Amino acid sequence: MNEFMRKSENNLPTLAIVVPCYNEEEVLKECFVELNLVLERLITAKKIKSGSYVLFVDDGSKDNTWNLIKRISDNSDGRVRELKLSRNYGHQMALLAGLSYIDTDICISIDADLQDDTECIPKMVEKYMQGNDIVYGVRKDRSSDSFFKKTSANLFYKFMSAMGVEQVSNHADYRLLSKKALSALLEFKERNIYIRGIIPLIGFRSDTVFYARKKRIAGKSKYPLKKMLSLAINGITSLSVIPLRMIAVLGFLTCLIVGLFSVYAIFRKISGETVTGWTSLILSNFFLGGVQLLCLGIIGEYIGKIYIESKQRPKFIIEDWISGKHND
Ligand code: UDP
Ligand code: MG
Repeated sequence: MNEFMRKSENNLPTLAIVVPCYNEEEVLKECFVELNLVLERLITAKKIKSGSYVLFVDDGSKDNTWNLIKRISDNSDGRVRELKLSRNYGHQMALLAGLSYIDTDICISIDADLQDDTECIPKMVEKYMQGNDIVYGVRKDRSSDSFFKKTSANLFYKFMSAMGVEQVSNHADYRLLSKKALSALLEFKERNIYIRGIIPLIGFRSDTVFYARKKRIAGKSKYPLKKMLSLAINGITSLSVIPLRMIAVLGFLTCLIVGLFSVYAIFRKISGETVTGWTSLILSNFFLGGVQLLCLGIIGEYIGKIYIESKQRPKFIIEDWISGKHND
């Protein structure tokens, strides 16, 4: 649909802002106030319909997050919807649960800590009206992040790209999706979904908005190194077979080196200069053992993934929602 058609239809879109939350009691209230303000402004400016809302997804929080969400929802005049997952599924699943649950023309996913500039939301809606189905929020400045976060995030994107995972650099999960793009995303049936890597595979017209990443308004990051590494491994093994190919190359190179070394060893043997080389023997033993274990480990990652996918388990389980607001 082009800009002219979207405008001429004079048919304003409904917007859902999806916010995954894990132990976010410290930021929730402020988060709602700010997002609600953005919605109000867009509604007043006749950019979106008044039925637009914020959907909070509680990803199995252990603190007071769910009660707080319910309280905010009760006082929000229908501006808030809420979902509670039965346990902590991780950011990607929580987001997907939220995305599968909405019924609007467009949706924007954003973190609860308001690190992503909400001023971009009107710009994203504008770009949608211009005919884009996907609008990526891209961080142009990470100066508010700690040195560790900055370095690990940079390494994360470089490593992923070297491993063959195409994604928009410095774009996390702050993005607008049209209904069309969202239903395409939901067509991807894999359990171990890495949303950031899947979105570019969808296609459709897309654009970008840039913003400076802010500091967390309160609380600590819910993405420790362990979760970040698991996100990277999940992303790579879900989207790329390059590590498997690297094993084949490594195996080929090792065979080549061993072949050359055998020629040398036989030559030494014939010329009668053989010395019992315990060091080289034991070293090569260890080296090959290590390489084999590494390769088995990588293959194991993929086999494990096939095993998990083959079970076709539900991606997430909803524990609670406020009845009457959804098609229940
Ligand atoms: N989050 C989640 N489940 C998790 C971890 C994080 O739903 O297991 C949410 C979290 O509440 C936040 C978003 O994902 O809204 C991003 O997390 P965070 O801001 O802690 O990550 P960082 O910005 O430090 O990478
Ligand atoms: Mg954050």
